[in-house]
Amino acid sequence: MRSAGRYEVIVVGLGGMGSATAYHLARRGRRVLGLDAFARGHHNGSSHGRSRGIREAYGESPAYVPLVQHAYALWRELEAETGQHLLTITGGISIGPAEPGFGATQKESAARYGLTVEELTADEIMARWPGFRVPEGYQGMYDPHTGFLLPEPCVAAHLDLAAKQGAALHHGEAVRRWSADGAGVRVETETAAYTADALVITAGPWAGEILADLHLPLEPWRMYNVYFAPTRPERFGPERFPVYGIRGPEGSYYGVPMLPGDGLKIGRHDRGEPCTPETARRTIAPEEIALTRAVLDAYMPGATGEVLAATTCLYTMTPDSHFIIDRHPAHARVVYAAGFSGHGFKFSAAIGDVMADLATDGTTRHPIGFLAASRFAATTT
Ligand SMILES: Cc1cc2nc3c(=O)[nH]c(=O)nc-3n(C[C@H](O)[C@H](O)[C@H](O)COP(=O)(O)OP(=O)(O)OC[C@H]3O[C@@H](n4cnc5c(N)ncnc54)[C@H](O)[C@@H]3O)c2cc1C
Repeated sequence: MRSAGRYEVIVVGLGGMGSATAYHLARRGRRVLGLDAFARGHHNGSSHGRSRGIREAYGESPAYVPLVQHAYALWRELEAETGQHLLTITGGISIGPAEPGFGATQKESAARYGLTVEELTADEIMARWPGFRVPEGYQGMYDPHTGFLLPEPCVAAHLDLAAKQGAALHHGEAVRRWSADGAGVRVETETAAYTADALVITAGPWAGEILADLHLPLEPWRMYNVYFAPTRPERFGPERFPVYGIRGPEGSYYGVPMLPGDGLKIGRHDRGEPCTPETARRTIAPEEIALTRAVLDAYMPGATGEVLAATTCLYTMTPDSHFIIDRHPAHARVVYAAGFSGHGFKFSAAIGDVMADLATDGTTRHPIGFLAASRFAATTT
């Protein structure tokens, strides 16, 4: 085995989270090595695809709001640094049956952080966006700061800037094992062994394997997206249609307006096929396309014409759908971020900053305590 050098920090996994971590470390002048098992731009993990939603009045918990606000600021900084357009604000609406507690967490997020959200009736939604057909007895919660990111250009921008600032980034070099002791960490791939002061593990759906000793409660799910060419394109462009979420008897679905060449996106959020990255089914069945078509035909008539694309992607679920960001309990120099439960990409710019803090200072000013692994203490060993 070739001994291939000493670094200050090694980052394992260069998807959404790892690319941002490498960028923040390199920007701080740290000697960083990033390793990824696959070629740059691969589609085996979680960060590929045409769009990712970003929302501010967070519906999963108000505790995420400061992190997502930091991410919004960092995405705009990244745009300024690269001269690329990465983030589009369209506003976003969550639609579901009008029942007690509808949108309560979003409202709490808004109240706590002084944000604006609007509660809309079915008629108000249809008057504002003629692309929707909302059943009687449904309502919506509108967040004007919602929008979407272009994930592949975001990851590429982080990688390019990291490399420009001196990071060594090796794609197609999988980490086989790692160890840590008082002197630092050692990471072995098929071809080389590297040492460093600290190790960051951002391995997406593979995190459970590379952190097997922690028995983290992580479950990869195989998900899919379908992209339709609308038959009424004048209704669904991003200048006149929002990022949307619809919860009904069919399940919870989300999507992004029609983008030039890509069509209108739809995916299911609340259920996927449990898998490993190796066993995940990478094809899309005709019934799956039919299901998404039926959902759009019910709530967004005119949205479904020709299928332009259908793709798979992996979520990494935790039992409570909140992320896990922590330090290895036995190795203070090893930190990890995992279990992004299908809503992590929007945060990745901020997670990179947080992981760079943890790897170099051992602590961060950002409020991540609610994401500690200790909340699963009863279920992990
Ligand atoms: C269909 C779909 C829709 C989504 N929609 C949204 C959305 O609208 N908004 C949002 O915020 N989030 C969304 N998400 C979630 C978001 O995309 C993920 O939370 C995020 O991309 C996770 O990034 P990651 O860096 O943890 O994982 P990944 O991007 O998968 O990166 C992990 C990397 O680690 C590498 N790796 C693993 N093991 C090793 C090893 N042993 N050695 C070297 N490298 C290794 C892999 O090759 C991979 O490149 C969606 C996800 C999917 C699948």
